[in-house]
Amino acid sequence: MHVAKERSETNARWLVVGGGVMGLKLADELSQLGQDVTIAEAAPQFGGLTSAWELGDVTWDRFYHVTLLSDSVLRRQLESLGLEREIRWVETKTGFFADGRLMSMSNTMEFLRFPPLSLFERIRLGGTIFLASKIRDFRAMEKQSVESWLRRWSGKGAFEKVWLPLLKAKLGDAYRQTSAAFIWAHTQRMYKARRSGAKKEMFGYVPGGYARILDVWTQSLSDRGVRLLSGHPVNHVRRINEDGESRLEVDFGDGRIESFDNVISTVASPLIAQQCDQLSDDEKAKLIAVKYLGVVCGSMLLNRSISPYYVTNITDTWVPLTGIIEMSTIVDSDGELGGNHLVYLPKYMIDDHDDLNEPDEVYKERCLKTLEQMYEHFSRDDVLAFRVARAKYVAALSTINYSTRLPPIVTSVPGFYALNSAHILEGNLNVNETLHLGEVKLADEVWPDFLARGGVAAGGMRVG
Ligand SMILES: Cc1cc2nc3c(=O)[nH]c(=O)nc-3n(C[C@H](O)[C@H](O)[C@H](O)COP(=O)(O)OP(=O)(O)OC[C@H]3O[C@@H](n4cnc5c(N)ncnc54)[C@H](O)[C@@H]3O)c2cc1C
Repeated sequence: MHVAKERSETNARWLVVGGGVMGLKLADELSQLGQDVTIAEAAPQFGGLTSAWELGDVTWDRFYHVTLLSDSVLRRQLESLGLEREIRWVETKTGFFADGRLMSMSNTMEFLRFPPLSLFERIRLGGTIFLASKIRDFRAMEKQSVESWLRRWSGKGAFEKVWLPLLKAKLGDAYRQTSAAFIWAHTQRMYKARRSGAKKEMFGYVPGGYARILDVWTQSLSDRGVRLLSGHPVNHVRRINEDGESRLEVDFGDGRIESFDNVISTVASPLIAQQCDQLSDDEKAKLIAVKYLGVVCGSMLLNRSISPYYVTNITDTWVPLTGIIEMSTIVDSDGELGGNHLVYLPKYMIDDHDDLNEPDEVYKERCLKTLEQMYEHFSRDDVLAFRVARAKYVAALSTINYSTRLPPIVTSVPGFYALNSAHILEGNLNVNETLHLGEVKLADEVWPDFLARGGVAAGGMRVG
């Protein structure tokens, strides 16, 4: 924890915009600092990308989520909510669908036998992953494209047979603009996960999924006096100087206007540019320039399992999916899913891709047809429920030299802060990185700026 928790005597009024995990984390930290906090979420419920929905008779996350043993900030957060000791840890297996065959890639021996590659190509592939795990400074990686870095170390064969299909599956055509920091961050997370476990891949979840975490978290915030507003989209934020007093006026639409001393927006960068007209042209240009990956993700409840693998990676280019995620290899089917099986079918793409708006029925039909071709035993008659979730702004794309073009967190509008997951530099998007970023940037940038503007009372807070 970076900010010492000594309560202020005069509370400033803070508005946190966006009720995803970043917004909840910031509201949590600020309330512990004795501030007067409101959190406004546009959707009817809190949680953003982690929020849940009903699929048939089951309530579970709209998008698949697992926790790693190495997710220390998230585990600390869960501990503070009394949920950490409930996490169920499960050993997982990884599959690969390559050359029309499904195979296991869950350990080193299986990796070394991976049929599509020659022995030499496998050695170069293994060496590349090992090298990425040893590199400490992401800045060297973000200067070069992911394609050129992988070609250099893995060679043509392994690149074209393994990396290229995986990059296309994960990033679509956006892989061409992506830096090598992407593969570096991914490798670091997986290596860390294994280092902190017994060399096995262990993934965890809280019984009840994120719906339960969010219920407990929002209740705890409300108990501590945080005002939680769902169904409250923030349209505009404007600094007003009137009668010798300066404040931020927030327009929630439908004539609802309220004043705050400080506003932290956690929503996607291009949306922040629209929220505050008073930002400078340079700030707006930087916010709009952040490109995002979006996702369309099928959720399917079945009465039988389709594979023993949590993730099945796909290198066959005819398969129009990023991967196949069988959540019920981790989540207890009887306890949580009414004895059924839960499979996610995601397809990631750049935020302005037309397919993000593809009708649900078209996406569903493509998924079912694909599964019928991939798995002999799969039948659409086994599908009990199918829903399609989509999100335009999932993760900021780590383009070449991304860190040098980031918009500022402390903006030129006094008291208006722009702090969202686009500031994750040394990792790929996940809840742990998001919470860590919120904690660190609040302590290192937002809070010192607030103090410098005179926003603290006697006996106030210090930053450690
Ligand atoms: C398919 C998928 C799989 C994932 N798997 C994992 C995983 O296994 N493990 C893991 O740790 N992480 C995973 N993640 C990542 C995780 O979900 C994110 O790291 C996290 O949810 C980001 O939270 P956030 O608060 O930054 O953003 P968001 O959740 O996007 O929150 C932003 C919020 O702002 C709200 N908003 C937007 N505009 C306005 C407005 N004008 N006014 C008010 N509110 C507004 C939105 O409705 C939203 O609730 C996954 C994500 C996806 C999409």
